[in-house]
This record gives sequence, structure tokens and C-alpha cells, in this order.
Amino acid sequence: ESEDSTDSHTADSVGGSSLAESYYRVGVLGGAGVGKTTLVRQFLASDEQRGKENVGEVDRDLKKNTVSVLLDGDESLLEFLDDCEGEDLSLYPDAYAHPNDRDGDCPSQSDVTPFQCDAYTVVFALNDVCSLREGDLTLCHLREDLGCDRAIFLVGNKSDLVRQRHVSVEDACKLAHKYDCKYIETSAELGHRTDELLVGILRHIRRRLSTSAR
Ligand code: GDP
Repeated sequence: ESEDSTDSHTADSVGGSSLAESYYRVGVLGGAGVGKTTLVRQFLASDEQRGKENVGEVDRDLKKNTVSVLLDGDESLLEFLDDCEGEDLSLYPDAYAHPNDRDGDCPSQSDVTPFQCDAYTVVFALNDVCSLREGDLTLCHLREDLGCDRAIFLVGNKSDLVRQRHVSVEDACKLAHKYDCKYIETSAELGHRTDELLVGILRHIRRRLSTSAR
């Protein structure tokens, strides 16, 4: 994929695609304390250093948990649905469909399907074996119980805690492979590989949609 190819079709694609078509939701799942909030904050962070190189132009809306990403000449809006109020989104796939008693804290959309997310990230902490087990249960639930066919990224977070590491790459990869997920290790705290994850999620969503449209 050539970086330069973006210029030639930027105007066409931005003008030609409606916002709705390029608005994607990403569910952020995982046990408490694994770094979900930090990861989303990192996606939305506005430091100059990130973004420009890998992600093109990035506009963020902190209040709405959305980030606008210009990638390969096309702009997409990604909304991150963090596991709010400690609820496990994977166990309640339509949790955001019926935000009955929430005071507008969570995104409410009327036209949602059981899988209202276009992709999921299942986050665990590399220094916490239990969180990997939790990830296993979540993946099993998503793929096997609910039949989810969306892109799922298994994210091993806190890669900076090298000495406290308790989960091997092999074990994590094995799990990712078992449930047809991509595996990536990040440090949400340091912003390490978080851009790569953001881009990977968007590419995956686009690829999936373009193949399913054929
Ligand atoms: P959540 O409960 O999954 O939303 O987790 P948080 O994002 O609130 O993070 C829990 C704790 O882990 C906080 O103290 C974070 O600062 C810390 N944390 C999150 N990500 C990382 C990371 O990549 N490395 C390290 N060392 N700490 C992290």
C-alpha cells in the first residue's frame, strides 16, 4: 500500500461517501483495570507527535469518544464504546441499544442490531494471567455463543511492565488464533503501538465491508 496514492482520490472519496457509511463503532471489552479507559484516551489523545505519520489527519471529540481518521484518502469516524459502568458489553451485546436508565452517558442509537459494533477489542493486561482468562471467556462468548463475525483484536496491554509480565506471546497468540483474532501488544500508558492498533482496526473494518459487499 503506497502512501502516495492518497492524494489522487482524496477529493472524490470524501465528497462521494456519506458520513453514515464511514461511521464505525468499536466495542472495547476486557476486565477491570486492564487499561481500557487509558487505551481509548490514547486513541483520542491529541499530542502532535502521534497521528500525522501513521494515521494521516486525526480529529478527536473527547466528549463523544469519537475520532476522525483520514486513512488512504478516506475519512472515517470511529466511536469507541468503552465498557461503561463496569458492564461487560460482550455479555450484553445490545447494552447500548437500550440505554434506558442511563443519563445520556452512553451512546444511544436507535437503529442498532445485536452487533452494533463493527469491530471489538478484547483487552487484557500482560501482567495479569486472570485477565487473559477473562479475555478467553469473552472471546468464546462473542464467537461461539453469539456467533459474532466482526473483526476482533485481542490486545495485550501494559507491555511496558516487562518485569511483571506473566503472559507469554505464545499463549496470547494461541488464544487469538483460536478465535480468529488479530493479536497486538500495546502500552496504553506510553502510547506504544496504539496508533498501529487504531489503523489496524479501521483497515480491518474496511476490508471486511468491501469483501462482504461483493
Ligand atoms: P480499565 O479499568 O480497563 O478502564 O483500566 P484503566 O484504563 O482505568 O487503567 C487501570 C490502571 O492501569 C491505571 O492506573 C492506568 O494508569 C494503568 N495502565 C493502563 N494502561 C497501562 C499501560 O499500558 N501500562 C501501565 N504500566 N499501566 C497502565
